Amino acid sequence: MRYQKPKGTMDILPGESSKWQYVEDVAKNVFNRYRFFEIRTPIFESYEVFERSSGDTSDIVSKEMYDFKDKGDRHLALRPEGTAGVVRAYVENKLYGPEHIKPYKVWYKGPMFRYERPQSGRQRQFHQIGVEAFGSNSPELDVEIITMGLEFLNELGIKNLKVAINTLGDPESRENYHRALVDYFTPFKEQLSDDSKVRLDKNPLRILDSKDKNDQKIVENAPSILDYLNEESKDRFEYLKTLLDDLNINYVVDSTMVRGLDYYNHTIFEFMVTDPAFNNKEITVLAGGRYNGLVEELGGPETPGIGFGLGVERLLLLLNDKLNLTTDLNIYLVTIGEKAEKASVKILSSLRKAGFSADKDYLQRKTKAQFKTANNLNAKYSVTIGDHELENDTANVKNMATGDEHAVSLENLSDELKRIEDK
Ligand code: ATP
Ligand code: MG
Repeated sequence: MRYQKPKGTMDILPGESSKWQYVEDVAKNVFNRYRFFEIRTPIFESYEVFERSSGDTSDIVSKEMYDFKDKGDRHLALRPEGTAGVVRAYVENKLYGPEHIKPYKVWYKGPMFRYERPQSGRQRQFHQIGVEAFGSNSPELDVEIITMGLEFLNELGIKNLKVAINTLGDPESRENYHRALVDYFTPFKEQLSDDSKVRLDKNPLRILDSKDKNDQKIVENAPSILDYLNEESKDRFEYLKTLLDDLNINYVVDSTMVRGLDYYNHTIFEFMVTDPAFNNKEITVLAGGRYNGLVEELGGPETPGIGFGLGVERLLLLLNDKLNLTTDLNIYLVTIGEKAEKASVKILSSLRKAGFSADKDYLQRKTKAQFKTANNLNAKYSVTIGDHELENDTANVKNMATGDEHAVSLENLSDELKRIEDK
């Protein structure tokens, strides 16, 4: 083959794309119910936007950025995740201003880019759906976001989710915890992976997230954030749990859970499933949390924020056999002879204007082959016209499932078809 798609990318073909549209429609409907509306930001931004928001010790920034210099020598990057661009837009458009109702709630969908080694479930262009809410630090909002994520996945038919929550506390608690981690990991420094050695100096919290097997062993006995929370942070977390209890949401507290980005604090959460699509291994479907320092980091006023994101490819792997979408056709027009062929252009046009999905043969195939196509396309009705029908100003309408046939007036074809539909 002469040309191939770039490594780590996918073509989403018709048939497959209807699944994507379905997922995006459900997202839109659920999120709109919570007054989250869609925001569309550029798929590339200044490199610094991501560097600032993800932190330079993150895998994303240190290894996976799809960055480049443009012809004007600007350092740009294809977005690796959605939050940074949304926060940049929030600050740049002054969405914190008094004319905007708080919390300011948005959702997004679209392609993300990471320079990773392509393998199953890992691409260089992949897609995320996410939500962000700015301007409220309320734990009730945390619960709203968690509930909305659950509702989204439930509506898609994913039911047996495990909800894991944790807190990273406020900056003071994190500071205390930070010190405890440095004290704990320093004696192990020589045994840590190279990445984690760097993390120990820059951001020890990230060691907890290490994928290195030996690091993970050392992490097992690391101190727990829950022992370093100040009263306020502890109370807040307890309160959050009572809100979840009130909603009968089952959850587990996973005190080793941290999130990839630097600016998370207080509530963080992940939804997990165990599914044959992933060899019955537990995987994270959706993840999010609070990031009260991020807006300031990107040059805005001190503004609390919270959100979640999820990978659409991964979601679709889970949904595959749960989705039953049809792209069935209302009408397939069958023509016999040249006159009918000519007349079909106008007939087809009026059917489509009337709102039917309709198609016809364009390859001068025999009648039998045209009916076969009607069948293959799952057309609900075939409408046949030939010389005889044209002379009498009629068409033969056949219900493809039952075989019932009617002769109907050609002039009122759309109305007649609607009448048959309503019966
Ligand atoms: P991992 O630990 O698997 O690398 P991550 O921490 O990089 O995940 P996030 O940055 O939290 O993942 O991204 C959220 C979701 O986006 C992931 O759970 C996954 O579904 C999806 N995702 C991330 N990177 C890729 C990729 N390269 N290809 C496909 N999907 C991805
Ligand atoms: Mg990753």
